[in-house]
Amino acid sequence: MSGKKRGDGSARGPAAGGAVGFGPGLRRVRLAAADSSHYTCGMHVIDILRKKRNGVSLSREEIDFVVRGYVNDTIPDYQMAALLMAVWFRGMNKEETTELTLAMARSGDQVDLSAIPGIKVDKHSTGGVADTTTLVVAPLVAACGGRVAKMSGRGLGHTGGTLDKLESIPGFSVNQTMDRFVEIVADCGLAIIGQTANLVPADKKLYSLRDVTETVDNISLIASSIMSKKIASGADAIVLDVKTGSGAFMREPRDASELARTMVDIGQLAGRRTLALVTDMNQPLGNAIGNALEVEEAIEILQGKHRGSDLTTVSFALASQMLQACGICSAEDEALARLDQALASGAALERLARMIEAEGGERRVCDDPTLLPRARRSVEVRAPGGGYIARMDTQAMGISALLLGAGREKKEDRIDPAVGIWLKKRLGDRVERDEPIATFHMNNESSLEEAIRRFSAAVAITAEKPQTLPLIYGKVE
Ligand code: URA
Ligand code: CA
Repeated sequence: MSGKKRGDGSARGPAAGGAVGFGPGLRRVRLAAADSSHYTCGMHVIDILRKKRNGVSLSREEIDFVVRGYVNDTIPDYQMAALLMAVWFRGMNKEETTELTLAMARSGDQVDLSAIPGIKVDKHSTGGVADTTTLVVAPLVAACGGRVAKMSGRGLGHTGGTLDKLESIPGFSVNQTMDRFVEIVADCGLAIIGQTANLVPADKKLYSLRDVTETVDNISLIASSIMSKKIASGADAIVLDVKTGSGAFMREPRDASELARTMVDIGQLAGRRTLALVTDMNQPLGNAIGNALEVEEAIEILQGKHRGSDLTTVSFALASQMLQACGICSAEDEALARLDQALASGAALERLARMIEAEGGERRVCDDPTLLPRARRSVEVRAPGGGYIARMDTQAMGISALLLGAGREKKEDRIDPAVGIWLKKRLGDRVERDEPIATFHMNNESSLEEAIRRFSAAVAITAEKPQTLPLIYGKVE
């Protein structure tokens, strides 16, 4: 695998940051530390840098030495920055990428979920816009008997984060102790919480450095960043949703498949049942972009609305893979039938309500989403002319919602949970001149004009009906 140059280099995704504090009580399991005798026998960063610069692959010991040295501050940022850039140009092979992931996973807490009976399953999306699948998928899987133990991240830049969405529910706290996390999964079948403060400290440091050295967009570095956190989070099975398109890191399906293959191989080498779906992000997945709005859309899906929508379809596909990965179902048809039943009976919505209550939130939002924060004002954005919606710059739409206050540019920025965009049209839809294509919900008008300008520029309308894109490009296992 090589570090490929990726076009405009504009891919910017969720940071590893935004971790929340955790109580004590983490148990360490599984990943034994590598033999420390290597570190006293004269390994030098300079030699490792030269090797990678010259395109020679690094050994497990060398990778472990660098990751440890960086985390404990014996290797400075400038040397690590040089190594990251060498990796970007020279790439890492499969063995190096796996060793990097495992060394990172060993750098902090390793969560022990063994107190919860059965196979614990996690899901992860590489980051998208209006990608509310977790809030639909986790309750569905739990209602079918799965055990979903998920540590989520926050949004950064144009992508949303599950923690920010959950925090829009009155009272909800994503900060739970590890004992409580285990208890909630055992009781409700699901829990979604913030990452422990000490989950993969190597990734926190490396991601911040990658962000300022233009080395984010490398498959080995993305794969090791994501998979180290999944492996340290303790689930037995991992289902990945790798996005491709105008709102994703990987613009091209080919690159998304390569990222999926890399992550699946790492997961399997680390002894976790791992598979990935490659799914479309050439338009926002759901209709809602913004935190409370996305929670509302997820609740509506679990209430049985939006049948056949793209968000519902991708959620069912992921949930089905999760049920198969935990051995609850053995085939797609069987899984989809059980999921349908969990939705129709209200069992999935009830699971979400129970999790919300267990994490301190107002469970009545599941019956009455008007209890979620609401923006004071709304305005319609209209089509400048008639035709078909031919393209959407999904990243720009995410940024437009961010400008309304739904996202953050810097980790420290505060989010307004109530604001965002509700889309009324999708790719291929016919629109007439002046027909509303989206509703903007806001509390503060300071950036409204720019948000509308960016949004409008992000939508292309043509006279001819565009070709339909696949929603799910394929499965990697
Ligand atoms: N998400 C991550 O957690 N890390 C990356 O490097 C990219 C996306
Ligand atoms: Ca995310």
